[in-house]
Amino acid sequence: MMEVPEKIGPPPSSAVKDIDWQDFRDHLSTADQEGRRMWLYPKQPKGRFTNVRRWLSYLLIAVMFAGPFIHINGNPLLMMNVVERKFSILGQMFWPQDGAILAFGLLLFLTGIAVFTAAFGRLWCGWTCPQTVMMEMVFRRIEYAIEGDALAQRSLTKAPWNTRKLMKKLAKHGIFFALSFIIGNTLLAYIIGDEQLLRLVTDNPRHHLRGLGFMVLFTGVFYAIFARFREQACTFICPYGRLQSVLLDENSIVVAYDHKRGEQRGKLHRAVTPAQRRVAGLGDCIDCRQCVAVCPTGIDIRDGTQMECVHCTACIDACDAVMDKVGRPRGLIRYASLNGIERGKKLRITPRLVVYSVILLALGGSLAALLLTRSDVDATLLRSPGALFQQSQDGKISNLYQLKLVNKTSRAVQAELRLESPEGKLTAFGSTLIPAQQLLQAPVLVELDPAQLASGRSALVVGVYADGRRVSRLQTGFIGPRNDAATR
Ligand code: SF4
Ligand code: SF4
Repeated sequence: MMEVPEKIGPPPSSAVKDIDWQDFRDHLSTADQEGRRMWLYPKQPKGRFTNVRRWLSYLLIAVMFAGPFIHINGNPLLMMNVVERKFSILGQMFWPQDGAILAFGLLLFLTGIAVFTAAFGRLWCGWTCPQTVMMEMVFRRIEYAIEGDALAQRSLTKAPWNTRKLMKKLAKHGIFFALSFIIGNTLLAYIIGDEQLLRLVTDNPRHHLRGLGFMVLFTGVFYAIFARFREQACTFICPYGRLQSVLLDENSIVVAYDHKRGEQRGKLHRAVTPAQRRVAGLGDCIDCRQCVAVCPTGIDIRDGTQMECVHCTACIDACDAVMDKVGRPRGLIRYASLNGIERGKKLRITPRLVVYSVILLALGGSLAALLLTRSDVDATLLRSPGALFQQSQDGKISNLYQLKLVNKTSRAVQAELRLESPEGKLTAFGSTLIPAQQLLQAPVLVELDPAQLASGRSALVVGVYADGRRVSRLQTGFIGPRNDAATR
């Protein structure tokens, strides 16, 4: 007669949806009863998903660190200079004048995330998020190399302080701090640009106190995240994980435990054959908890989709290795949707996905139109604040304006201003040669014959030409005397 373990785990598959028998949603997997943090020692994952993720992370890390130093058309691959409000995306420079493009770009990005998450869950978190990539593929691996795997780390923590422990901890935290410094500087380069960063580190520090302050701040923040906060950055700080509950549905592909196949879970007994397990109503899960042991957020994926899950696939690899050992097919934990597991349905295009996609297409189309019609030179012409009109001895009326020209290209552009309506004289003071990616400001004087003017305020049209081509048509007002005053 088959020996059935006394404790064979939770009730069958229905329990995954009806979870009253578990309290895992009421408390954090990383906090004890008193709410104190429990430090996690995840076992080093091994397997095909981990291998692919590792190679992908090498590529991403290379791009991440090289990003600010790669230039296209003389501009950084990516730069978010919020201080000077200059943004470079794929070598294209954007200015505050491109606010509509940036707003559409941001909306497109957010909608893209919503669509992607609705269809494929948190693929971003597990595979490409810089936090996960750096934590799991760099910092965690350094920790494994210095302190050993989970068991060794636990015993090192419990061990009394001695030279060996001190050296290991110093080596680990020294490397963590150095890496955080590099990451902090890279982030700074993304914000202020590589040339400014170079000036920051080579120039007299007294001239760059603010920049150096940010360098120290970023280093400290990254050190705290990777050495202390770790999974808390994903569960407490990052808002994306919290959006899961509204973005995911039963058709979303997530890292999921196949409860229909796995339950009822029960320990493996040498004397019990797979056939006997099935007869006894046991599923494929042998309750070895290897999936929990490797989880960097400390959760049990068998409890169902949880906010803490960053879809790192470590539990898939761990369970596949167990299935290989017990001679059962892989995929007890796998990428699947709830509908796929419960009803065997493939990925379905849901109405929600269609709506998101239509919005995504509309935003993409608008952004493409804005990008295609974006001019190389942006111009604004405003009357000088507080200045009134002037009347010269020959009776001409003049107004003073402030001209702003932004050259968005990586070469100097010669601009020219022509008064297009009404007839008159326009004089720009100073050079109108706009240096590459610079803002040029110049006073402009417009003189008109009073006969051209309507009473009080008249419309003025100025054409801005760059390299002989009109790039902008500016409309502004021209203040003159009231007709009765002009003729007096
Ligand atoms: S690793 Fe697989 S078999 Fe082991 S407890 Fe997790 S789901 Fe069950
Ligand atoms: S449950 Fe699995 S996929 Fe989710 S975080 Fe844990 S190990 Fe990664």
